[in-house]
Amino acid sequence: MTPDKLSNVDETTFPLNFALTPSDELRHEMEREEILADPGFGKHFTDHMVTIDWSLDQGWHDARVTPYGPISLDPAAAVLHYGQEIFEGLKAYRHADNSIWTFRPEANARRMQRSAQRLALPELSTSDFIESLRQLVAVDGDWVPSAPETSLYFRPFMIANEVFLGVRAAHRVSYMVIASPAGAYFTQGVAPVKIWLTEEYSRAGRGGAGAAKFGGNYASSLLPQVEAYENGCAQVLFLDSETGTHIDELGGMNIFFVHKNGKLVTPMLSGTILPGITRDSIITLARDRGLDVEERHISITEWQDGIDSGDITEVFACGTAAVITPIGALVGHNLHIGDADAPAGELTMSLRKELTDIQYGRSPDRHGWLTRLDA
Ligand SMILES: *Cc1c(COP(=O)(O)O)cnc(C)c1O
Repeated sequence: MTPDKLSNVDETTFPLNFALTPSDELRHEMEREEILADPGFGKHFTDHMVTIDWSLDQGWHDARVTPYGPISLDPAAAVLHYGQEIFEGLKAYRHADNSIWTFRPEANARRMQRSAQRLALPELSTSDFIESLRQLVAVDGDWVPSAPETSLYFRPFMIANEVFLGVRAAHRVSYMVIASPAGAYFTQGVAPVKIWLTEEYSRAGRGGAGAAKFGGNYASSLLPQVEAYENGCAQVLFLDSETGTHIDELGGMNIFFVHKNGKLVTPMLSGTILPGITRDSIITLARDRGLDVEERHISITEWQDGIDSGDITEVFACGTAAVITPIGALVGHNLHIGDADAPAGELTMSLRKELTDIQYGRSPDRHGWLTRLDA
């Protein structure tokens, strides 16, 4: 296991100043309200975006908020050839008093710093990262929807945009943030999904970039994801690439098993899985309830045996986008574990409610996880 290296970023340097160029093509309130009434996911974007440039000689500079729109890249920009890119995902939640909050943004900032280290990209400080979200909310706050379970999804990302085909870490990089209103993930109530087990493909290997939020991990998951769809499944589950025996994670979500005594078991952070902030928050909330949480290897056999014996009572996936998704069944070429028609588990649903109640300000933020963005 690779311990998290201490970040190299210097938090004591002067904060960046953001220059604002307001859009002169703001969407009308009516059009915005129409979009917010049924935003879907990742389809609509707000009126502005944030960009901060970095170069080897100048460091981070030229922070700006500009109208949302296409970016121009030289065809030789390194990201287009070697995929040097990382991203993050977090949400803004509107509370009942109309204030706008986000959840554990310093954890996303630190994770982006670790992803940057792994992909040989520059680190953006935690305070500049959070300020970039504030800046976007200051101009596009009206895009944070207010219906239950809706949010504004932030997509911070970083690309190598140096014009150079030589293979080395780029000397020019851009960090950007775009934002997209997100509807309730489950519109018909939270329903268990079927998951496809890929036995042929891996997501990450020892020493690879599996613990980084790196576009390439997603690119290599798309083919098994097609296979999942062809088999009527919502997502794909990956095993460890070395032995092919224990469970790593889904294409974009971590996984938990609930045992009948209330114990939770989740794959340990072995360097090949993405350390989810939802995962970490669930571990904390479960331990607060006095439940045992084990982080260790789990095999497919243990899953099968646990379902057969009744020792495993619930399985769920978690991540920022869907929060917690119950898993009904695991399907493979010669495998079928569980029952996709069984209702969502009780602990699954109660942890989901506890976490979303904190995010939406309906219950006390006892861990100091919320950061206000609009004041
Ligand atoms: C982002 C992501 C997750 C979930 O992380 P959260 O911080 O909970 O949103 C899990 N797995 C992968 C591969 C991811 O990219």
